[in-house]
Amino acid sequence: MGIRTGAQILEGLRDGRQLYMNGALVKDVTKDPRLVGGARTMAQLFDMQHQPGIIDEMTYISPKTGERVGLSYLQPKTREDIARRRKMYRHWHDHTLGMFGRAPDFVNVMLSSFASGAEAFGPYAKNMTAYYEKARDEDRIATHSLTNPQVDRTHNVAAQAKDLAAKAVRETDTGVVIRGARMLATLGAYSDDLFVMPAPSYPLPNTEEAKAFAIGFWIPVATPGVKLINRPGMIQPGLGSSHDYPLSSRFDESDCMIIFDDVLVPWENMLMYRDIEIFNNIYRRVHAMGAMGHQFSVKDLCKAEFMMSLAFTLVRSTKVDEFLHVQGMMAELINNMEVLHSCILASEAQAEITSVGVMSPAMGPLGAVRYLFPEMFRRACEVIQIVGAGGLAMVPSYAEMSGPLAEDVKTYYQAAAADSDTRIRLFRLAVDAAMSSFSGRQQLYERYFAGDPVRGAGNLYNAFDKAPYVGRINTLLERFKLEDQAWN
Ligand SMILES: Cc1cc2nc3c(=O)[nH]c(=O)nc-3n(C[C@H](O)[C@H](O)[C@H](O)COP(=O)(O)OP(=O)(O)OC[C@H]3O[C@@H](n4cnc5c(N)ncnc54)[C@H](O)[C@@H]3O)c2cc1C
Repeated sequence: MGIRTGAQILEGLRDGRQLYMNGALVKDVTKDPRLVGGARTMAQLFDMQHQPGIIDEMTYISPKTGERVGLSYLQPKTREDIARRRKMYRHWHDHTLGMFGRAPDFVNVMLSSFASGAEAFGPYAKNMTAYYEKARDEDRIATHSLTNPQVDRTHNVAAQAKDLAAKAVRETDTGVVIRGARMLATLGAYSDDLFVMPAPSYPLPNTEEAKAFAIGFWIPVATPGVKLINRPGMIQPGLGSSHDYPLSSRFDESDCMIIFDDVLVPWENMLMYRDIEIFNNIYRRVHAMGAMGHQFSVKDLCKAEFMMSLAFTLVRSTKVDEFLHVQGMMAELINNMEVLHSCILASEAQAEITSVGVMSPAMGPLGAVRYLFPEMFRRACEVIQIVGAGGLAMVPSYAEMSGPLAEDVKTYYQAAAADSDTRIRLFRLAVDAAMSSFSGRQQLYERYFAGDPVRGAGNLYNAFDKAPYVGRINTLLERFKLEDQAWN
């Protein structure tokens, strides 16, 4: 099949999935007014893969079928391959301004890493390879679910007073029956498949009770017994148009809780089962983090560039960029963008072939991006609020441009460097980027999309090779001691 078109993607989503929103079943995610914007964006991304000017940067030839497939599936062997992947990510994330963070390349890269190290999946290695090839050659979209519902975080999932998390409840000749809930499937509304995996840094205890939770598998979203509950949309129909909420109306990628109501997962779809060792160590064994970090860092760069560009345009419109402290804030955004850019290039320059034979960007600089970007993005929102000031509160609905006060609006909403139409569109964009519900969800996303940053920071500190640095201080103390003895 090879790369699909946007129309084929939308057709594929009309599959009878059980997706609930605001207390009712959604009949068609491609037509529902709360979801249609994200569906259109998804279709645009897939159509981009066919654009003559960029098709070679978006795709490569499948080694199995000889057809064009998405470049995020590439298993990189050289630094040039990694740079090719970067260019591909940029096309998608520049198009979505870095605001559609779970565009399908995120999981594709994960799949490519898992398949490169498929042997680490033990008895399910063949299933992992088969799913990777299927996803690549049929251009499928997967949402991934790595975590268990928040019930009582002071106990591990196998020791909860309320046993709600998804687990294996029995085996049959044909597969494993899964019952319970999982979070948090971003893109659930727009995905073909559900990809259930462990989270990189939330290990299970090696106990008999925990084994039922040591599961990894993929199934189509429309599998009988799978129910998705989507949070309310970012704009409610009738309460805001795409003119007023240009980002919310396009890039709401959906976030879902998944409920498995005795879902039969066929054996050929199982990717890990009851093996705590594999469950706890898979990311490290296949070296997936470098590839995943590279993808999301490029997304972060696209987002930082968009926020910076928006701030530049905003401050020019009312000429507040002539004030020194405003220039200082613009410089902050420039510096943040430069840091992100440099970290990506540094990760590529230090890339190495891993033990599973693929070229992996160095995780050090990408870990720094993961750690720094939530605050960079939060600060970009704050800067836009500071420089937009009252203009962000008084910007009217775009509908005023054609309402009874249209002439007044045309006159009084002008700015020094913008007519009223441009000024209203610009400020509505700034509101949506920096202070809407959509923006709040983006800030939350950046904080948590790749796990808990608190535990991430702890893991970094614990894994970091500190000995040379501590040794350096000990040597220095020794040197100073000798110097002090000689000099005093
Ligand atoms: C917008 C958004 C989109 C997401 N998309 C996806 C997705 O597509 N797929 C997916 O799998 N996941 C996704 N995630 C989920 C993400 O993996 C989790 O949010 C993240 O792992 C944190 O877990 P939690 O939300 O359950 O927070 P919790 O674990 O409940 O943590 C809440 C607070 O308690 C603290 N805490 C909890 N436990 C401990 C502990 N043991 N030690 C120290 N501190 C602790 C945390 O530091 C945090 O401050 C998404 C999250 C968000 C917000």
